[in-house]
Amino acid sequence: MKELRICHLYGNLMNTYGDIGNILVMEYYCKKMGITTTYDLISLEDDFDPNAYDFVLFGGGQDYEQSVIAKDLQTKKAPLTTYIENGGALLAVCGGYQLLGQYYVTADGTKIDGIGALSHYTRSQAENEDRLIGNVKIYNDDFKEEYIGFENHGGRTYLGDDEKPLGKILEGNGNNGTDGGEGVIYKNTFGTYFHGPILARNENLAVRMINIAMKQRYGAEYTEIPFEDVK
Ligand code: GLN
Repeated sequence: MKELRICHLYGNLMNTYGDIGNILVMEYYCKKMGITTTYDLISLEDDFDPNAYDFVLFGGGQDYEQSVIAKDLQTKKAPLTTYIENGGALLAVCGGYQLLGQYYVTADGTKIDGIGALSHYTRSQAENEDRLIGNVKIYNDDFKEEYIGFENHGGRTYLGDDEKPLGKILEGNGNNGTDGGEGVIYKNTFGTYFHGPILARNENLAVRMINIAMKQRYGAEYTEIPFEDVK
């Protein structure tokens, strides 16, 4: 039987709006697809082993939680970068998404270093700007899929040249409210501002991520299972 080893990164601290729901959805679909799952919470002072997992969830957090994990995150920079560069499947939400990039400047102007595994950066909300809050709808051209979600962030994220957005904005604000993109895809790492949780509202994306993770782990030995067959 195939197995999906799940790592919930800082799951006890970075879990705004119940981002853990994404893991429950992954477990639900894995069961339907005949895949067993294991779950590890990796948090402050724990080692992250880049070879020990097939899927990583890095949830969202407000500025306070982000500052709590900031220092510890730097100790995991090398193994997390290795995991991402090797094509490991990862979903990062909001505050987690911001910290995979170069840096995030909080509402009070404090700069929190990210791990720089991805090239985006996030500036703080300016005094004359509002938080970006509300429902969002996006379209991904490569997958020909629409995704919906709910965003609530002050930070404005700008993607690097080697990054693609998770989707084009049809409704809502997304990364920065101006360039028409929401979230990121880099290799098999997906980032998004969607809380909600994103995978509960976009089950096709959950099955896509399971297929990606299984292909990565088992190669040609794994045959992709289309969403239509498991929904
Ligand atoms: N604190 C960050 C911001 O406001 C992230 C918020 C979140 O994860 N919801 O931009």
